[in-house]
Amino acid sequence: MERRDKRVILCLAHMSGNEMKYVKEAFDTNWVVPLGPNVNAFEQELGRFAASPCQAEWEEKIGNEPYPQCIQAHESDPDKLWPDALDMSCLAGKQVVALASGTSAVHLALVALGVGPDDEVLCQSFTFCASSHPVRYLGATPVFVDSEPETWNMDPELLEEAIRDRLCRTGRLPKAIIVVYLYGMPAKIAEIKAVADKYGIPLVEDAAEGLGSRYRGQVCGTFGEFGVLSFNGNKMITTSGGGALVCPDAATRDRVMFYATQAREGYPYYQHEHIGYNYRLSNVCAGIGRGQLTVLREHVAWHRHIAHRYAEAFRGMEGFTFHEETGADSRSNYWLNTVVIAPEVRIKNQDQAYKATVKGAVGGAAGVIHQASQARTDCEPNDNVEALRLWLDACNVESRPLWKPMHRQPVYTDSPAYVNGVSEGLFKTGLCLPSGPLVTDDDVDFIIDAIREAVDKG
Ligand SMILES: *Cc1c(COP(=O)(O)O)cnc(C)c1O
Repeated sequence: MERRDKRVILCLAHMSGNEMKYVKEAFDTNWVVPLGPNVNAFEQELGRFAASPCQAEWEEKIGNEPYPQCIQAHESDPDKLWPDALDMSCLAGKQVVALASGTSAVHLALVALGVGPDDEVLCQSFTFCASSHPVRYLGATPVFVDSEPETWNMDPELLEEAIRDRLCRTGRLPKAIIVVYLYGMPAKIAEIKAVADKYGIPLVEDAAEGLGSRYRGQVCGTFGEFGVLSFNGNKMITTSGGGALVCPDAATRDRVMFYATQAREGYPYYQHEHIGYNYRLSNVCAGIGRGQLTVLREHVAWHRHIAHRYAEAFRGMEGFTFHEETGADSRSNYWLNTVVIAPEVRIKNQDQAYKATVKGAVGGAAGVIHQASQARTDCEPNDNVEALRLWLDACNVESRPLWKPMHRQPVYTDSPAYVNGVSEGLFKTGLCLPSGPLVTDDDVDFIIDAIREAVDKG
């Protein structure tokens, strides 16, 4: 077994070199607060991006340039970066609010939609917890909907079934729908929007993982009432930590801004008639974001390039299925590359999987202080998946199971769920592989060789 000298990590944002200029400006002008010129400019630039047309040919070209030239900024003027807004009336009024995290963006979307303790919210079960936890922050009940096998996102037919059944059981319609672009893959958003519109339920798109993904050329996060973006350190671009909410119009933007800044009324003293939150993005972090936006196109291109490399390699490997976009409508940013491993595939040392509890933090994440009490739970990836994860780890390559569906999380045992087995099946058989601007062609070759070697042909 060979070891990579430098650890190949799952995904980490990559600096463009333009960030310090904006951060320095924040310090030089003494705008070191959660508002200011960088925040305003960042919101405007995000708005331009949200309305921009697809530059597919350009992306393919960049994706074939030598590494690392391809991941450096080719253009830093936002007007030239996102030249002509799409001529679509649905995007005309969209407004962006920069926030402290993607999680706070989900939370404020629900606040703006008036979600309260008696309400139910339809959530995609196959996701990171930040899609559904804010439902609980508001005392409401998440109702989980399983995925379809093509994009791994919310199944539109199951969604409609869930809506009808909730109406039957509770006499009321759910207050909102939260659909996710898992691993950057566009959901079947036209079908989902049709169901949402049919029942008049507002649609929130959790595009935290889908920044730069497109459906029929349109930016993911701009189809619904609200679109959630994240700029955490492991997402497509980073502000070190941050997020944004794409709002349907200026009046809604103002309301979201009001709740993001402690709901202050217009008096010379602090007068409060509503409960608000401290969720605005810092002007320093927005400076990082402005620099990062100058490489968003390059990052999307490189993520796609790496995905194509994996896709080709896995096509020839029995028992391994790389998760790819299908059809002409869907353009994924391939935030994380994922592969599904058939249960029949045997991995060397497979009988050693789950022999020990994980000692380090989960995925190296900071702040994990709860040690697992047992090595196993009643819903976990198959032994061959865990064995491959351990094998790659020993090769100095980070990999990680797919998101564990929310309807199988102990914290949500009381929440209703409409399931078809898709997300649970994927969780048990899938693995996320290193992706993005820090991963080179050489790394991909190494990873593929390591996986080939890990397969026990005996
Ligand atoms: C990362 C993520 C979020 C939350 O974003 P933060 O900025 O980390 O709060 C929300 N939803 C999904 C699906 C995510 O992956």
